[in-house]
Amino acid sequence: MNKPVQSQFAFIIAGGGMAGLSLAYYLSKSSLGDVPILIIDQFPKNKNDKTWCYWSDCTEEFDKIAEKSWDSLWFHSQSNQSKLLNINPFQYRKINSGDWYEEVNKALSTKPNIQFIEAKIHSFFYRGVDVGVSTDQGDFYASQKVFDSISPFKCDYENSKHIKQHFLGWTIESHFPVFKQESADLFDFRVAFDVECEFMYVLPTSPKKALFEYTFFSGKIRDKNYYRDKLKAYLLAYYGFGEDDYDLLEEEYGVIPMRPMEEQTQNLHAKLIKIGTSGGFVKSTTGYSFLRTQRILKELVLNLETKNHKAFVLKEFRFKKWLDNVFLQVLIDQKIAGSKVFEALFFKNSPQKMLRFLDEKTSLREDLSLMLTVPTYPFLSAAIKLFFKGNKLP
Ligand SMILES: Cc1cc2nc3c(=O)[nH]c(=O)nc-3n(C[C@H](O)[C@H](O)[C@H](O)COP(=O)(O)OP(=O)(O)OC[C@H]3O[C@@H](n4cnc5c(N)ncnc54)[C@H](O)[C@@H]3O)c2cc1C
Repeated sequence: MNKPVQSQFAFIIAGGGMAGLSLAYYLSKSSLGDVPILIIDQFPKNKNDKTWCYWSDCTEEFDKIAEKSWDSLWFHSQSNQSKLLNINPFQYRKINSGDWYEEVNKALSTKPNIQFIEAKIHSFFYRGVDVGVSTDQGDFYASQKVFDSISPFKCDYENSKHIKQHFLGWTIESHFPVFKQESADLFDFRVAFDVECEFMYVLPTSPKKALFEYTFFSGKIRDKNYYRDKLKAYLLAYYGFGEDDYDLLEEEYGVIPMRPMEEQTQNLHAKLIKIGTSGGFVKSTTGYSFLRTQRILKELVLNLETKNHKAFVLKEFRFKKWLDNVFLQVLIDQKIAGSKVFEALFFKNSPQKMLRFLDEKTSLREDLSLMLTVPTYPFLSAAIKLFFKGNKLP
């Protein structure tokens, strides 16, 4: 990384992870592409530290670097019923973060106005009309805006009522070809044995290579060995694999908040703007944010270009947020197994409708018809509970 020679910029991006680099990338391609921009991160981004998956029914910005895409996905219920979901015209796509960092850094390296610094950020502050970032390498100032992707999102990781997507995944290479690459396993609830929402997620990328991820949508984070033991047990039970039958290529671990943004939606008047996970870009009911972040930031840059400062960073659909909260309250209450909720949704609705619903693209009529397919009592009880708590999750 090059050390910047100046301390004054038009924009500073605090945190050069997925959201920070995406913003720099879209800025670099816009009419603001030549203004001085500084990206600050405490670590270089050159490792394959994550897998980013998303579904889409059209061409997206980074499709060309996807390792693999699938037109169909398996859903295995807790009671051993399996359904192959043909998601056409959608595709489910997998990008390796290592490839993505390389692609984005390559594009940014052609822009001399975009500088990087490796530094630990301590705080943000205002100095006159500028907004400043204080780091262990000194202070830096932005005349227009600082984008913050480092502030912690309000989620208490110890609180079992705060739902998180927590998972540990292994990319393995088996010693013999066994994986059917045509379809991925989006939800394998055969591993669930109680009401907690837990499932295996399997992405086969070649006859010998696949990513297995033991995943929870729940409040109680486990010790990493717990997920590892589940992975070993699954590989043995469903593939007959002992530890000598495969090589472990990579491990990934994540805890993603599944909560709505509590703070007021920010508009572009603000000088300090939260983006990425910090800015509530994660869809609360799925824990996905890669494609959502791309869409939000593309629009944000468009609004910056046109000086549409009244525009909101996040568009809020109140009814959809309420639906998300009811869903999360159902997961918190555990009056019904998480697997049964997903089973009802995916077995009684078309996968296309479900994917559009999760993308917040369904009409009110479609939302209402979806609501008729969920188990009545737990959803009604969750809705009543939320009503008396002013639509606030615990
Ligand atoms: C293992 C894993 C797998 C995931 N898979 C998917 C998926 O398949 N699909 C999907 O949609 N989403 C997925 N997500 C969720 C989400 O897309 C990622 O978490 C994504 O990286 C979030 O982007 P971000 O920019 O908010 O955070 P990050 O990418 O984590 O970026 C934040 C950056 O800030 C830097 N930073 C933090 N504090 C400081 C500081 N004090 N000073 C300087 N720098 C600092 C960090 O080094 C980091 O680079 C996954 C998350 C994880 C953890």
